[in-house]
Amino acid sequence: MGSHLCERLLASGDRVICVDNFLTSSKDNIKHLLENKNFVLVEHDIINPLYIEEKINEIYNLACPASPVHYQKNPIRTVKANTIGVINILGLARAKQAKILQASTSEVYGDPLVHPQTEDYRGNVNTIGPRACYDEGKRVAETLCFDYHRTHGLKIKVIRIFNTYGPRMSADDGRVVSNFIVQALKNQTLLIDGDGSQTRSFCYVDDLVEGIIKMMATPDDILGPVNLGNPDEFTIKQLAELVLKLTGSSGEIKYSGQFREDDPMQRRPDITKAKKVLGWEPKIKLEEGLEKTIKYFKAQL
Ligand code: UDP
Repeated sequence: MGSHLCERLLASGDRVICVDNFLTSSKDNIKHLLENKNFVLVEHDIINPLYIEEKINEIYNLACPASPVHYQKNPIRTVKANTIGVINILGLARAKQAKILQASTSEVYGDPLVHPQTEDYRGNVNTIGPRACYDEGKRVAETLCFDYHRTHGLKIKVIRIFNTYGPRMSADDGRVVSNFIVQALKNQTLLIDGDGSQTRSFCYVDDLVEGIIKMMATPDDILGPVNLGNPDEFTIKQLAELVLKLTGSSGEIKYSGQFREDDPMQRRPDITKAKKVLGWEPKIKLEEGLEKTIKYFKAQL
């Protein structure tokens, strides 16, 4: 998502300082930007303080592994990115008097008891489960943003991103869309956790980036949180079948019979607020977005 956002900002004439520790991302995704005179790359992990000399007007904080496989691999580091890391970036924003947009997540709703999820729903998170490093981390990151706003008058914007997919995901990302596409293209078995009845709502990356840009451009009194995602909801079984159809794969579907611990069973954003505040809604249907993503992975493989 970061590389798509960088491209979009550069295209509108902005200068971009891209900060990444490349823990889960690939430098290949931004190598075409390195020659752009308005693009600067800083290799850095935000859990260490970040000093930037030049003037900064806006900060987009997307820093954190977002795939369950990745964020659970080193859970303490995930918590650090969302606490120490966010404090460092809020400090930078304060020093630069910059506006900051924090990428929060639908995971703050945990395994939701309210459906679809509205921003005023406070969630159902297991504080001691394997997803908590990310869920609770992102929750306290929201808290920090609002405390910096209340205490220091910092200009903040909080968005809650629902499942997003598209070109430049890594093949070993571990998330369902990339897993299924890669398995299908290799004519391998698509392994579904549980019975495939759990749902997700998938947003194509270009739509999401458009929403992020619109949120940053809102007046200072719009703080969020605002849900950003595609409200078209699918079961994981439906997704697997669609991927098989679109790839023409001879791969089969298998069920593990067991859901992941604390796996959200139903997830769909209520985007009424985004429509009203940003005049935004996703345009790209799942089938169209999957076709673009399949094309990308075909070239990669
Ligand atoms: N999932 C699956 N097979 C996979 C990867 C994921 O059945 O190869 C399921 C997973 O158990 C979850 C859903 O797909 O119910 C979405 O998982 P993902 O890791 O993409 O992200 P999440 O929305 O859970 O953060």
